Amino acid sequence: MSNLFRMAVLRNEVTNKKGWNARPLNICNFGFLIPMNSKKRVLITGAAGFLGSHLCDRFISEGFHVMGMDNLITGDKKNLEHLFGNENFEFFHHDVSSFVHVPGDVHYILHFASPASPIDYLKIPIQTLKVSSLGTHNLLGLAKAKGARILVASTSEVYGDPLVHPQTEDYWGNVNPIGPRGVYDEAKRFMEAITMAYHTYHKVETRIVRIFNTYGPRMRLNDGRVLPAFIGQALRGEDLTVFGDGAQTRSFCYVDDLIEGIYRLLMSDYVYPVNIGNPSEISILDFASEILKLTGANQKIIFKPLPKDDPKQRQPDISLARKILKWEPKVSRAEGLKITYGYFKTLSRDELYKREHKDFEAFSKK
Ligand code: UDP
Repeated sequence: MSNLFRMAVLRNEVTNKKGWNARPLNICNFGFLIPMNSKKRVLITGAAGFLGSHLCDRFISEGFHVMGMDNLITGDKKNLEHLFGNENFEFFHHDVSSFVHVPGDVHYILHFASPASPIDYLKIPIQTLKVSSLGTHNLLGLAKAKGARILVASTSEVYGDPLVHPQTEDYWGNVNPIGPRGVYDEAKRFMEAITMAYHTYHKVETRIVRIFNTYGPRMRLNDGRVLPAFIGQALRGEDLTVFGDGAQTRSFCYVDDLIEGIYRLLMSDYVYPVNIGNPSEISILDFASEILKLTGANQKIIFKPLPKDDPKQRQPDISLARKILKWEPKVSRAEGLKITYGYFKTLSRDELYKREHKDFEAFSKK
């Protein structure tokens, strides 16, 4: 455990024991007692993951007190180490599929804990199902108890292998519940259903974002997703593995654009699902060529079998986000890929060659 991490865990324990009421009080100009730290408090689950860690940064920079929670199965505490000395950040090492307790006020909750790559779902299918079903239930209960507004991270996978293109929010999807992706897709569909139920039945303030393929610094190089897979292969001097004939399409959004869309949605009063993604669509074969050009690698593209239920096309229709959030992506794929490649180049040789995630064994049978 690094010193910074130990410090944060220690501070977290102290806060847990004492709770919000025990924090130092301050007398304001009007003579009332107010807590010294009167910042709005936000709980971010999946905080040590790719998107969660970027959300932590954004909320810290917006002046919030951030409580990051993660069980570190797929997340990495390295993504948060730069925040551990910050008095406005606390870390809770906890699995949200079990009862979630946080001391004191909570004004906002962002539920981003979940494995997020098809390879991860295969390795930890039960955990994947639990975090978006039981985990979402726990966090909705917490939101209700604390009077917090909650935003849940849904996904373009609720559209499955879509028969409508581009995908609009009113499309109900084409999902195989018992296929390899079913554990993720159906859990996210349940997440949306229970979130709407808490909104209509318990009047909890809820928001639902449907996230399309996103990339940027802090993605896990070995998580199996196409962008880290291709960049990792380019950096190791291996051939790039295109699944199927590469005619399937995806639309890649740079992480900063996504975070901006999520922030706007949270602060809006819109309760139904909203697509956030970049509509610029590309085939996987063309994407592989782009990566070869970007990295200057002179390896070949090789073809491997297409995984079962791999969606043939994906592109978000973002008319709704444009209208209600006045949001659209700003970072081109060329720009975003350059920054992301720069990040992957800084990884150590060990990280570059690490094939497996260290903690899966312990969780795989739970
Ligand atoms: N893919 C590929 N080679 C790889 C990894 C992925 O051709 O080494 C393909 C995969 O079959 C899919 C697309 O790239 O069609 C995007 O896959 P990813 O795992 O990133 O996420 P998805 O959008 O399928 O959830």
